[in-house]
Amino acid sequence: MKRAIISDIHSNLEALEAVLQDIEDQGVNEIYCLGDTVGYGPNPIECIELVRKKVAVCLLGNHDQASLFDPEGFNNSAEKAIFWTREQLENPRIHSANERWDFLNGLPRIHREDDFLYVHGSPRNPLNEYVFQDDIYNEQRMEKLFSVVPKYSFQGHTHVPGIFTEDREFYAPDELNWRYTLGEKKAMINVGSVGQPRDRDPRACYIILEGDTIAYRRVEYPLEATIEKIIPIPELDNYLGQRLREGK
Ligand code: ZN
Repeated sequence: MKRAIISDIHSNLEALEAVLQDIEDQGVNEIYCLGDTVGYGPNPIECIELVRKKVAVCLLGNHDQASLFDPEGFNNSAEKAIFWTREQLENPRIHSANERWDFLNGLPRIHREDDFLYVHGSPRNPLNEYVFQDDIYNEQRMEKLFSVVPKYSFQGHTHVPGIFTEDREFYAPDELNWRYTLGEKKAMINVGSVGQPRDRDPRACYIILEGDTIAYRRVEYPLEATIEKIIPIPELDNYLGQRLREGK
């Protein structure tokens, strides 16, 4: 049984299509998505349609929530993109806008299966909390986070892939040779971002979970095509495209 776990697609259709192709090539049985299907990128409708078709479990991310309700705590560039995204989602020309709203509205904030917890942000604040590498030095914070991890937590949100263990270590995927075996230690696994990686590797990122083994996958996609779509849309800052080249 192979499960792909993807997150933070951010309306990047080229990245999503490349990842779905890779997932198919890897013989994956099912796909979970940890949220932020929309926001920042130029193809929110197409990404939602694909996720609805292909993903078995999909969570609500903070950008998805902001598109549904009011954006709070976003910078100017992200907020403009959210209002533009909302306009697109209301466009009745492509399928039913109501169906899309129903889909987004129905997304859960957490998903739990035995020892496995799935969230967008963090185990204690599933929508909005960022857990970064430097947080390992904050003993109290890590203790609190791990106290709500059943055994393993899968998360996204920071767009930086890596594994936090309960003994307050952080491992970037390349340090692990792109593989990690789940063991006795509790772990929080950040699966990285499909559509806007921020670990200075511009390739789309996701993981495949098979038994107790996690494999990080990096997938090249035609990012110049995504950038070319972003540039002419005034509500999407050019920077949102340019950063895709550097993966930051
Ligand atoms: Zn995100």
